[in-house]
Amino acid sequence: MIEQIEQVLQEALAAIDAADTPEALNAVRIQYLGKKGSIQALMTKMKDLPKEEKPAFGQKVNGLKTAVSEQLEARQAALKEAVQKTRMAAEAIDITLPGTKLEAGTTHPLIMIQQELESLFVGMGYKIAEGPEVEDDYYNFELANIPQDHPARDMQDTFYIDPRTLLRTHTTAMQMRELEKAKGGLPIKLICPGKVYRRDDDDATHSHQFMQCEGLVVGEHITLADLKGTLEYMANTMFGEGRKVRFRPSYFPFTEPSVEVDVSCPFCNGKGCSVCKGSGWIEILGAGMVHPHVLEMNGFDPEKCSGFAFGVGLERVAMLKYGIDDIRNFYMNDLRFLKMFDRFD
Ligand SMILES: [Zn+2]
Repeated sequence: MIEQIEQVLQEALAAIDAADTPEALNAVRIQYLGKKGSIQALMTKMKDLPKEEKPAFGQKVNGLKTAVSEQLEARQAALKEAVQKTRMAAEAIDITLPGTKLEAGTTHPLIMIQQELESLFVGMGYKIAEGPEVEDDYYNFELANIPQDHPARDMQDTFYIDPRTLLRTHTTAMQMRELEKAKGGLPIKLICPGKVYRRDDDDATHSHQFMQCEGLVVGEHITLADLKGTLEYMANTMFGEGRKVRFRPSYFPFTEPSVEVDVSCPFCNGKGCSVCKGSGWIEILGAGMVHPHVLEMNGFDPEKCSGFAFGVGLERVAMLKYGIDDIRNFYMNDLRFLKMFDRFD
């Protein structure tokens, strides 16, 4: 019997040694220490022994049980450490490797100008209007005082989708929608920035797609002086302090009187340079008092209210502000060009 105990011990130690996973080790534990295991089987044999041999036998089996338990625990700790080492090796990070560069985009220069104008006018209490780029002839031309056969239609070579539908040629279409929506209610104070389209041949200063931002104010006692003050504030904010604004007579079908607006050259302070072609002034936008007929068509009484409107080309502003000499740069999607603006962002 005693030899049997020694044999079980040797077998158990060998099995524990051979178990190379926690699962295999657990199987060994059940095989030797479980209720139906080999050691329990030895214990049951004790009842067949003569009385005087029982204590010594019992002691031996207990010794066997302790030895196997201790060996199991030691092996379990060793296996756990090995598993952890393997996992750490697999998850190791080589901190000397160069990182993956994430390319960040930048705001498009035209959007930068748009945002600048928006925050400038929102600060003065204007709201920002939006409208469709595919527009009805009615809003783009008729309500803006440009009926069929009006010569001004030739000034704006239009992309037609069908005889009544077109790509808007100016953001004035949004002004007309807003005037109609107001149903004669005053005051109106809004800007409408957005893309517009004309059938131009693209060159350094022309593009078939460009961006405008128009402003419209309608209320009681609105005068040309209000327009001038507003544009002076805009010029000083966009091009730096000390800008002067001057009006020259012009013609637009939806304003009367109409003016071209010049800003004193921010590059030479009015002394004359290559940008302003020696004149000291730079033509920047068109404006005027809203034509009484436009007010009337949109349900306003021109005897009781008046308004001003202006429209600025965002490309023109961006080209002056950032010294860009070709309008096509804005639409070429050349990353080398676009990335120049990340420092202004
Ligand atoms: Zn100049």
